[in-house]
Amino acid sequence: MMWRLMALALAFLCGGVTAYGETGSSFAAFLDGLRADAQRQGIAPATFAEAFAGVTPDPNVLGARQHAPEYGKPFGPYIASLASPSRIGVGLRKSAQWAAILRAIEQKYGVDQNILVSIWGVESSFGESPSHWDVFRSIATLAAAHFQHPLFRNELLAALQILQRRQLPRSAFLGSYAGAMGQPQFLPSSYLKYAVDFDGDGTADIWNSVPDVLASIANYLRQSGWQPKLPWGFEVTVPQSFDYRSSRGTFAQWTMRGLRRADGTALPAVGEAILFFPSGAAGPAFLVTDNFIVLKKFNNSDAYALAVGTLADRLQGLPTFGTRWPANDFQPSRGTRIALQHKLAALGYKIADFDGHFDFDLRDAVRDLQRRYGMIPDGYPGRIFLERIGVPAF
Ligand code: CA
Repeated sequence: MMWRLMALALAFLCGGVTAYGETGSSFAAFLDGLRADAQRQGIAPATFAEAFAGVTPDPNVLGARQHAPEYGKPFGPYIASLASPSRIGVGLRKSAQWAAILRAIEQKYGVDQNILVSIWGVESSFGESPSHWDVFRSIATLAAAHFQHPLFRNELLAALQILQRRQLPRSAFLGSYAGAMGQPQFLPSSYLKYAVDFDGDGTADIWNSVPDVLASIANYLRQSGWQPKLPWGFEVTVPQSFDYRSSRGTFAQWTMRGLRRADGTALPAVGEAILFFPSGAAGPAFLVTDNFIVLKKFNNSDAYALAVGTLADRLQGLPTFGTRWPANDFQPSRGTRIALQHKLAALGYKIADFDGHFDFDLRDAVRDLQRRYGMIPDGYPGRIFLERIGVPAF
């Protein structure tokens, strides 16, 4: 199954490149179809013409896509690289530099300013590493190759809507090879939904205006359900006698079950959280809240959310992890994750996503099987579990 999926993905990519290389006709046909849809959505022919004047498919986009950072990195080094000492240092300087703006944004949107600075740092090194791919060209290349269809095609229509508003010149549309724009790395649809003009010049400029960048990230999180004053989560210690079948509960229940914060302080009095073992019971344990789930709406990855939360904690001056990450930490690759999702679905578990993104329902399904197999039910799909369930780990 896994190899079939990978071969299919490769066929999409190669098929796209070959077709353009030969005649360019499939790209022209793609644009014709898009033009009709755009017109139905109220995009003026002039806007469409301006967006795609001289635009050809970019083979480098598909190459970059294939070399994109994979899942499967061990959590410890991944988090250490995102929440590096140098990034913490720059982040503290930026927090001081923009203190008044950050206070105003936190007051308006209710999102912890350390989280905002952390995402800014992780997404674009605080705007110091801008990306220069042309958004229309990049996204059109991916959409014409049917990559993650219809996601990129819809993003192209969203980019046209932005251009039609005339607040941004065509030349402003710069982003990553995958169309993520500006310092917060918003896809065009996110820009339409969440970008805000906080400095009052009339344009939501997420490329050049730091107040606009930070307020847009805050607006994204708030509209995605961020709860003010709720921590994203924290590391905990688990007692020897712990019953690993528990994965969810209120903080009061977690206190009763013997969990403590790793820094020795008490758990919050109100609220609820999910117990998360990113690398299994042998590694660090975390209680994560609904705000952790909101961070995953920004980028659907547990490792990403944990790294953003960790960097925010360091900016706030909180200590590093109390438990070491396992030296031989195994994290399944995207192919393995997708294969596991299909396997769990075949076993009757309800699976929300077949793209390799894990949610906590999936980890509960893993727990359920681990219990049946006589393993510690920690929700971590490590090598032994994958072997037992018959999913190749690579
Ligand atoms: Ca502005």
